[in-house]
Amino acid sequence: MNTTNSTHRISELAEKIAVCQACALYKTRTLTVPGEGNTEADIMFIGEGPGMNEDREGSPFVGRAGKLLDELLDGIELNRSKVFITNMVKCRPPNNRDPTQSEIASCSGHLDSQIHVVDPTVIVTLGRFSFSKFFPGLPISKARGVPRAWKDKYIFPMYHPAAALYNPSLKPRLTNDFSKLSELVDNNHHIPKVSTNPPPDKKPKQLGLFDQ
Ligand code: URA
Repeated sequence: MNTTNSTHRISELAEKIAVCQACALYKTRTLTVPGEGNTEADIMFIGEGPGMNEDREGSPFVGRAGKLLDELLDGIELNRSKVFITNMVKCRPPNNRDPTQSEIASCSGHLDSQIHVVDPTVIVTLGRFSFSKFFPGLPISKARGVPRAWKDKYIFPMYHPAAALYNPSLKPRLTNDFSKLSELVDNNHHIPKVSTNPPPDKKPKQLGLFDQ
């Protein structure tokens, strides 16, 4: 998809999200937080859901966790204009409680459409909720920092930045996971897709690096 098309489709999705009443979160939201960034990005970040600041501004990761995310992106020479950032649920759960499974299920069509349109090569899951969308039942503490093939993409699980704010001893692991993420980017600033059809006698080079 070219940039004009993908930008248009992402805006259409944001309009749909803005009037969504598929779960009860619409009753308490101020603004919907559909997600934003480069609609052709090779890397998509998926967090949990909007907090108080995001609910007021309509943009993802604008509070303290967002500042840390910006710092981590900057550390690997990326910024918000090069990636797409979204969440499992697009409306704030009251008092920042965890989203329920039913809220996540109600919102999953919006996220699936965003993944389809942006079609990133790497999806960085921030925290356990987004990781369990792709690999349910695997603990994030064991899985983090290792990209896993999923369809023609990699799922790269990381701790949520808020976890590192709460427990600063996790920050070096998050920083380290970001440098591993930057190792996937090639000289043309792209990340090659997972080969879903390797010749039987030849494993694609990059797959040797990953735990599948
Ligand atoms: N935490 C999230 O998971 N998402 C946001 O957008 C902000 C904080």
